[in-house]
Parts: sequence; C-alpha cells; structure tokens
Amino acid sequence: MPATDMSQLVSLCQRRGFIFQSAEIYGGMKGLYDFGPLGVELKNNIKASWWRSMVHERDDVEGLDSAIIGPAVTFKQSGHADTFNDPLTECKKCKARMRTDKMADPTVCESCGSKELMAPRAFNMMFKMQYGPTEDSSSVAYLRPETAQHIFMNFKNVLDTTNRRPPFGIAQIGKAYRNEIIARNFIFRVREFEQMELEFFVVPGEDEKWHEYWLEERLKWWESIGVPRSKIKINDVPKADLAHYSKRTFDLEYEYPHGHDEVEGIANRTDYDLGNHSKNQSELNLTAKVHPNTASNTKLTAQTLEGKHYVPFVIEPSAGVERCMLAVMNEAYHEEPLPAKEGQAPDAQSETRIVLKLKPFLAPIKAAVIPLARNKPELMALATQTKATLQKLGLGRILLETSGNVGKAYRKHDEVGTPLCVTVDFQSLEDGTVTIRHRDTMQQERLSLAELPAYLQGFYRVGG
Ligand code: ATP
Repeated sequence: MPATDMSQLVSLCQRRGFIFQSAEIYGGMKGLYDFGPLGVELKNNIKASWWRSMVHERDDVEGLDSAIIGPAVTFKQSGHADTFNDPLTECKKCKARMRTDKMADPTVCESCGSKELMAPRAFNMMFKMQYGPTEDSSSVAYLRPETAQHIFMNFKNVLDTTNRRPPFGIAQIGKAYRNEIIARNFIFRVREFEQMELEFFVVPGEDEKWHEYWLEERLKWWESIGVPRSKIKINDVPKADLAHYSKRTFDLEYEYPHGHDEVEGIANRTDYDLGNHSKNQSELNLTAKVHPNTASNTKLTAQTLEGKHYVPFVIEPSAGVERCMLAVMNEAYHEEPLPAKEGQAPDAQSETRIVLKLKPFLAPIKAAVIPLARNKPELMALATQTKATLQKLGLGRILLETSGNVGKAYRKHDEVGTPLCVTVDFQSLEDGTVTIRHRDTMQQERLSLAELPAYLQGFYRVGG
C-alpha cells in the first residue's frame, strides 16, 4: 500500500533527512526546498537512471549542461515573455492571491470564502533579473523556466560537433525556475525545481510516429523505477489547453496522495522553437542599430542527404525530478505489521514498521554496516574496514551505522529504504562471518566476509 496521505511522506522526509524547508532558520521560503543527506542521494540516483536510459543506453542522443540564465531575447523568441502566464486573482477582503484555473470555484476566495475577487489578470511566471553591472534594458535576463531553450540555442553546436542528423536528440538535466502563484503539495509544485528533458529532433512528417514512440519509451522507464503504468493516466491534452508551442501533448498524470497530477509532459513542439530562434533582424522587422542582439544570426536547420536545409520538428519528453521523487517515494512507502521478534532488540513501542521498498539502484544507502557494540574497539575496527572494502566497489553510498541498537538500526534503514544491512558481531571476530539482513523480507543469512563483495555486486547487478 503506498502512502494514503501526503503527511506520511512529509513526516518521513523531515524525520530522516530527505528534504528540508529552505531557509528554515529564517522562517522558511515557501516553494523552496533543500535536499538533505538522503534526499540528495535519491535525487542523484533518479537522475542517473534517467541519464542511463536516455543517453548512455541509446545511440541517438547527446548530452548537454547549459547555463541557467538566458538573455531576454531568448524568451521573447520562445514565446515565454508573452504567453508564459497563469491567471491571477486577488481577494479584495483578505488579499489572498490565487490561480483561477486551479480553483474549485473561481468565484469564491479559497482562503476566506469571500466572493469579492478581482478580475483575473495574466501573471508572467518567469523570474526576471538584471545581468551584469549596468541597469538598462540590455541587461535584462531571466532564470530559465525550462531547460529546453538552451538546448535549442545549442542545436547547431551539437549538430556540427557530432555530425548528427535527425532523428537524434539532446538531453539535459538541470534547474528551472517558475514564480508559481501558489506553491503547494510539498515538493510537487515549487518555484525552483529540476527538469529531465530530451529534445528529440525529427524530420517533419515523422513527428507523430516519434511522439507515440516516446510515450511508450517513457512509460517503460517509469515502470523500471517502480511507478507502474496502472498508476499513470495518459491525458491527451485538449487543444484548448495546449501550450503555445504544442501541436499535441500527452501529460502523464500519476496518482499522488493529493490526486492525479502531471509528473511528465510529452509534447510535439513542431518547428516552433528552432524556427523562432532562426529569425534574423529583417524577418522580425528590426534594425540592428536600434535593437542590438534582438535576433539570432544563425539558421537552426538540418540538412537532408541531398543537402537541402529544413527546420526539424521536436518531440519533448520533460519530467520534473521532484515530482518523480515524490511518485517514487509514494510507491515505495509501506506500513507493515511487525513480527513479534525480529533482529536482536525489536523497537518496543512500534508494532508496525515503515519500509521504503525502493528499487535497490535508487536506494540512498546501498548497505549499512552495523557493529553490534560500539564500545568494542575490535568490532568497530572490523566494521570500519568492512565499510571501506564495500565502498570501493563503486555501488553507491555504504554507511557505517553507529547509532542506536541493532533493532533500531534495522527500523531506521527500513524507513530510508536501505536494501541490505550487514551486521558485524562477536562471531565475526572469531570466524570472519557476518549477518546480511534483507529490507523487504527481513530475512537474515550468514556469510563470510570474503564472499561479501561478490555478494553485493551480484545483488546490485540483479536488482539493477
Ligand atoms: P503544471 O500544469 O503542473 O504547472 P506544466 O504543464 O506547466 O505543469 P511543463 O511545462 O510541461 O509543466 O514542465 C515539464 C515538467 O516539469 C512537468 O511535467 C513537471 O514534472 C515539472 N514541473 C513543472 N512545473 C513545476 C513546478 N512548479 N514544480 C515542480 N515541478 C514542475
């Protein structure tokens, strides 16, 4: 059973150090979160899995890591300056601000119930900034609202340096910023987040085929990280709701504790972006003197085998790391009755255990090495050495767990999703064997220290 309420996940994330409210010591900033010791590991593992599947395991995708700030002209040409708006209303009575398209009843204030609301106005969601020491219109820049535009701006650089020809893609994982009217549902809707985006360039006319292809590929990836298809609703977005650049979009809506909501969008962006970034001064009716740097001087085109230039169409699967993390944690979250006796000292107060049944390759900690007693130098030395040996295998983080008794350590590692615990006890000092304890089954087996590295390697190879 996944979590039934968001509060279960919020509580686990805070208690165990996955996620903290940003700037908490100063009262916190709404819509901003920091990722703690376990959160950063989980996030990195999610991103690594996406990168493996979208770049390394394919032969038609290149990677990119671009700047986060972009000049105003980028977002003028991409359409974001004019159309990246949400409808904002304000309550005349309590001054609460709301996004009308997300309100159950757009005529009633969500905060105080008043019906005295201002007429909705378009609120642009981009964070504007001044770039460099001069304060004039030429120094206006924006924090990117999606990683995509920098991929488009680098289209020709990648094409020319890799000799690619459509169909091929450019993938990027990185931060994006949106000044959401209301940040809500924990890390679901935030103002700073990370996107995992692929821009896949295709020959016009082949776009619809590739759009269907990427829908299927992406569903397979979600399944591989523990989010089953049965939990994802595919929303073929109605024409009236499409983003300004889209011919057709499939939204993947995961069943979150707060209801079905978008975890990934797969859009057919046509030639909209590459076409707009290719427009020169005269095509935009501008003169270079009056408007310097307001148009590109590069044609973002590909060539057919016959040497004819054309603007490729783009299929874009775009997923948020935070929304992915929330879905993965939600699927993995289980509360289970605890058998009467488990481990050496079961936690007396709890009759249920919380266990995060993450896929092993996503687990923040791959194995916890637990010395049975902390005050025995020989045991500590053997545990420390075991940790160091396992760490060198390159599987991810191995933790030397020295807090609490063994029972408590098992409970803790169940909660944070550690697939294996390795307990070093007095028998280990005598015969060189240790106990391996499995998170999901709670079963234990005895293994020699010499066999341990190969055992872990095998476990993680099979488990992913
Ligand atoms: P929504 O309708 O929920 O605002 P969107 O359709 O504007 O989302 P896209 O522009 O398609 O989102 O962005 C691609 C992905 O980026 C989304 O599927 C989501 O996973 C992520 N994302 C977008 N906005 C946010 C946000 N404010 N907080 C966290 N993730 C986000």
